Amino acid sequence: MKFNGWFFLFILFLCSFMLPVSSGAAPETFVKTVKNGYAVYHSPGKPGAGQALVVALQPVAGEKLKNESQLLSMTFLKREFQLEAVAGGWRGIVAVPLGTAAGTYDLVIKSQAGVALVLPVAVNDRDYGEQRLTVKREMATPMRPENLAKIKRDRHNLKVAYGASGSYLLLSDKVRAPLNSRLTSPFGTRRLLNGKPKSPHGGVDFKAAIGIPVAAAASGQVVLAEALYYSGRIVIIDHGLSIFSLYMHLSEIDCRVGERVDRGQIIGKSGKSGRVTGPHLHWGVKIAGVFVDPLRFVDDSKHLLTIPWDAENGEAENGKSKL
Ligand SMILES: [Zn+2]
Repeated sequence: MKFNGWFFLFILFLCSFMLPVSSGAAPETFVKTVKNGYAVYHSPGKPGAGQALVVALQPVAGEKLKNESQLLSMTFLKREFQLEAVAGGWRGIVAVPLGTAAGTYDLVIKSQAGVALVLPVAVNDRDYGEQRLTVKREMATPMRPENLAKIKRDRHNLKVAYGASGSYLLLSDKVRAPLNSRLTSPFGTRRLLNGKPKSPHGGVDFKAAIGIPVAAAASGQVVLAEALYYSGRIVIIDHGLSIFSLYMHLSEIDCRVGERVDRGQIIGKSGKSGRVTGPHLHWGVKIAGVFVDPLRFVDDSKHLLTIPWDAENGEAENGKSKL
């Protein structure tokens, strides 16, 4: 059969309709909205449940704001999130809790004077599936008084650690996974421990034998480094703006509370301490009390450092100057 050149062109023409419509922008770039004298940028445009959302604001050139040097904060889905003043604007991060239904929710930006603006943000829901695990009874439902007392002390220590986040961003590079290995359990699965429903999986589990070096995912400050009942030996690093990374079930801790760590610095070794079914590394990212998928945060975190500040607005020549 002779192949007809026109027929080939016709097929090419048809194929062009099957390509995704491209606006020329990458899917994860910022959406810009101008409202109440501010240019507001957010990325991704439509976050999912269990995902972070980077937000940046800039006063629009020529607009006189009531109180330009004010401190701003944000609320989203009834939670408070920080905003950091940077050259020419503000930046911050909010998180969509697991289990959030698809819909549009108000991101409320507040100043000392009250509500500065309200930005509706569309959210995708996401079902991460279910997982059944079997652990020792005293680990699933502790009964012994000494264990209950330990859990109570742990809760207090965690509250102190999470309560003292820096009001400015400490991470200076995109987040990187703490070790190179395959996942044995993804983020967000609804968990049944010995048949009883428990909190969904707040992080990811990496396959790791005992003693594999674990690296800090980003620069920050160690706020917890001790053994907890459920988490075993755990390290929590504050990355500022209420962004924390968690490393659990370690066999060894190689850092101290208060220590500043760089991305890639070894902070401990993998193990099987705490509530586990075998040795692995549990890695989590928590933003103002909300667990987000750490692997998605690897990509989302870079948007905190690449905000597309508009040079026409404010005094910012290049918003990255202070980053
Ligand atoms: Zn885990």
